[in-house]
Amino acid sequence: MPSNILRQYFPFFSSHRSERCVYLDSAATSQKLQSVIDITQQYYQERTVNVHRSSHQLAASVTEQFEQSRKNIQHFIGAKSHKEIVWTKGATESINLVASGLAKNVFKTGDSILVSALEHHANIVPWQQVAQALNLQLEVMPVDAKGVLKLEESLQLITSNTAMVALGHVSNALGNINPIELIIAKAKEVGALTLIDGTQAVSHLAVNVQQLDCDFYVFSGHKMFGPTGIGVLYAKYDLLEQLPPYQLGGEMIKQVSFSETTFQPPPLKFEAGTPNIAGVLGIGVASEFIQLHRTTLLALEHNLYQQLLDTLSAIPQVRLWGDNVNSICVQSFTVQGVSHYDLAVLLDKHNIAVRVGHHCAMPLMEALGIDGTIRVSLAAYNNSADIDIFGAALTECIALLNESVNQMATDNTPFEHKQTRLAPIAESIKQAKSWDQTYRQLMLAGKGLARLQDQYKTDTTAVYGCESQVWIKCCIDEGKLVLEGDSPSKIVRGLLAVMFEALSGKTVNQVLVFNLADYLEALHLGKHLSQSRGNGLSAVVDKIIEYCQHQSPDKES
Ligand code: PMP
Repeated sequence: MPSNILRQYFPFFSSHRSERCVYLDSAATSQKLQSVIDITQQYYQERTVNVHRSSHQLAASVTEQFEQSRKNIQHFIGAKSHKEIVWTKGATESINLVASGLAKNVFKTGDSILVSALEHHANIVPWQQVAQALNLQLEVMPVDAKGVLKLEESLQLITSNTAMVALGHVSNALGNINPIELIIAKAKEVGALTLIDGTQAVSHLAVNVQQLDCDFYVFSGHKMFGPTGIGVLYAKYDLLEQLPPYQLGGEMIKQVSFSETTFQPPPLKFEAGTPNIAGVLGIGVASEFIQLHRTTLLALEHNLYQQLLDTLSAIPQVRLWGDNVNSICVQSFTVQGVSHYDLAVLLDKHNIAVRVGHHCAMPLMEALGIDGTIRVSLAAYNNSADIDIFGAALTECIALLNESVNQMATDNTPFEHKQTRLAPIAESIKQAKSWDQTYRQLMLAGKGLARLQDQYKTDTTAVYGCESQVWIKCCIDEGKLVLEGDSPSKIVRGLLAVMFEALSGKTVNQVLVFNLADYLEALHLGKHLSQSRGNGLSAVVDKIIEYCQHQSPDKES
């Protein structure tokens, strides 16, 4: 089945969008199958009932369909029984369920929990919080300079004190396939439990939990062509019996009186309340599709990934991260001398959807000594034209960013003061005739912004809520606001220059009535800023306003 034929199963690619989006962000969430949409819609349109409760015919039929989905997932991951499949709202909830349950019933003093430096925050924070609450040791399997798990050192960390090894099957940030078989085998030797986070794996690799012999395996529906808000916890049945319920309420009980409650056996014991019925039906259909087309999906992904690697390797400034052999079709990279944030902004103007930043793996970025990457994540519905368009756009964006460096280095002409109510930087941006001119002007403005000394780049000056690092330092001098700031992103520095031009030298009361949205509109900038960048800018303004509120003589009133 060639890729263009596969595309027909995904209505996203034939939707009537005026501009075509090259979707290279499937690791964030995948596009949805028509069959998933159909079954979800059919449930809401024609078959809405609750499951496991009512005895009428339709309820019985939908309950059967609901339980069939559980069996689909059982077969999808090779579980021994459908009773080992618990519905959750996603991988995050699955991990939290296991961590909190083990904290209550299983972990004991002296235990240690082992995670890897590659983990998604969802597979770090629940363990970290449990370790802190119970005074357990949290240990970390290390990675090498490219971000590949150091196997020997990792195996050595698994000792008789290890109670749990929690490891991603595939890294969401880098795409590496981890050697989970070897890690699980070593964990078995010392009697440690194992949880495998398969969120990025199940749509790309055939998984058999019985062969793996892991204790827990978790994933989410939305990364495997299925709905959001539905996920899976697989656990060996005896462990599900040992774990306490996660939430309490209807559906998970057998008998309730005011003196005592007894619970259903697993998996219902963990499914309190009305479940995400449409989501369950959707994930069941998605898993069937993947199983049916597994060989085709793998072949298509392999070819696309090779094309992506060739495209990226041909650009001299590009540095690839992670393992490029043992990998699914996800590639993280950085570009020398270019902020990942700036590239993402410009790629977005070419209608190319990629993800940039830390990818919910901040400790990994710290281990690699970088503040983020650009991640291209493919799925079998991508085609070779997508990668060609991406490659050409990437080359163009890098050229634009480099060009502006040279231009800025020689451009000493002061801004011309025109007869206008707007300040010079604002005016130059307003006058820009196209999006690339707008960004050129922004970067030029950013170039004029003084660098903030490193000593001021602290937690106090950091602005959270922007995709790039940003720092703002505010002070009042003779009743007027003085602003300094910095960012590795040229575009963000330009935006700071715009904001500072508008707000520096103003009194506290003037700042407090500043309207960001109106100001951006006046500069024709609003339409160029995506929601998250807009939010980042709002976070900058909020920080300045918060500072001013603390300075305001009216603050007590
Ligand atoms: N683990 C990994 C490896 C992931 O990629 C993600 C999602 N990015 C999660 C866990 C969390 O998944 P969800 O947000 O669907 O709960």
